[in-house]
Amino acid sequence: MVLKSFFFVAGALLITGCVSSASKKTDSVKILQRLELDADESLPVIDVHTHTRFSGKPEITSKIPDTFEQYLKEMKEAGVVGAVSHVGSGRQGFNAELSKHHVIQCFGIGDQVDVSAVEKGLRSKDFRCIKIYLGYVHRFAHDKAYRPLYRLAEKYDVPVVFHTGDTYSATAKLKYSDPLTIDEVAVDFPKVTFVIAHLGNPWTQVAAEVAYKNPNVYIEASALLIGDLAQISEAGLERYLVEPIRWAFGYMEDPSKFMYGTDWPLTGMKNYLEAYKKAIPREHWCEVFFENAVKVFRMKDLEGQYKCRINAEK
Ligand SMILES: [Zn+2]
Repeated sequence: MVLKSFFFVAGALLITGCVSSASKKTDSVKILQRLELDADESLPVIDVHTHTRFSGKPEITSKIPDTFEQYLKEMKEAGVVGAVSHVGSGRQGFNAELSKHHVIQCFGIGDQVDVSAVEKGLRSKDFRCIKIYLGYVHRFAHDKAYRPLYRLAEKYDVPVVFHTGDTYSATAKLKYSDPLTIDEVAVDFPKVTFVIAHLGNPWTQVAAEVAYKNPNVYIEASALLIGDLAQISEAGLERYLVEPIRWAFGYMEDPSKFMYGTDWPLTGMKNYLEAYKKAIPREHWCEVFFENAVKVFRMKDLEGQYKCRINAEK
């Protein structure tokens, strides 16, 4: 997940430095037009991967102020009408205010697995998903300590989200966060909905295969790049964000499997959305940016409130 943006600024100059032609410019104007919404279109968005600790300070890489005000401001700017928050481990960080803004919260599982606390959280509906930090916690998805959680997920009909791929910490162990490990629990718990976060980055092909093969596994591609995306060149965005998503989306041949997420405040909602839109054919925007999240995270209240309408051709 954490490819540092300043690396791409340097690398991107090398890539784009010599490309400048009239046809290139026309192409990029066309792409920008394709990304805009017509007057008769509407695209409500759900960001399925955010953090709401609200430290009050700027996030270290993106410099985004980690505050509730900023969160709501960015939701508004990007047309985000609902979100999923991973609040850390246990009940810590639970924020009752979030539900007023259609933000649901996942119960984060730390080193200790307190099954009864998770059950209490799910029963009360304070928590409507479970987040497991593969890699950060040195356990595989199929570890026996996690199995009671999958049974709870089935009982309370909530999805389980796995951190997969690269980690933001050097003390994490990557063997646990390889997305291939999700295949085993997907088979053993066919009635549970699993979400692979970060498209398994950099093992994006593995993540796509696990979701393609298992009917109960879904993908979100948050934080493929972090930091201020405005500082990253077109070529850098294309190579490390747009292209992996485009490939995985095409490979999976099932538009119902993909969702949008950012990992806010590691990166901004609006810029990430604009880059993500480039990877997804227009005719599937409603599914990827809204409808799939409603289904996977059981956000039925949003379904009645917002109508998504996009013209396939533009
Ligand atoms: Zn995250």
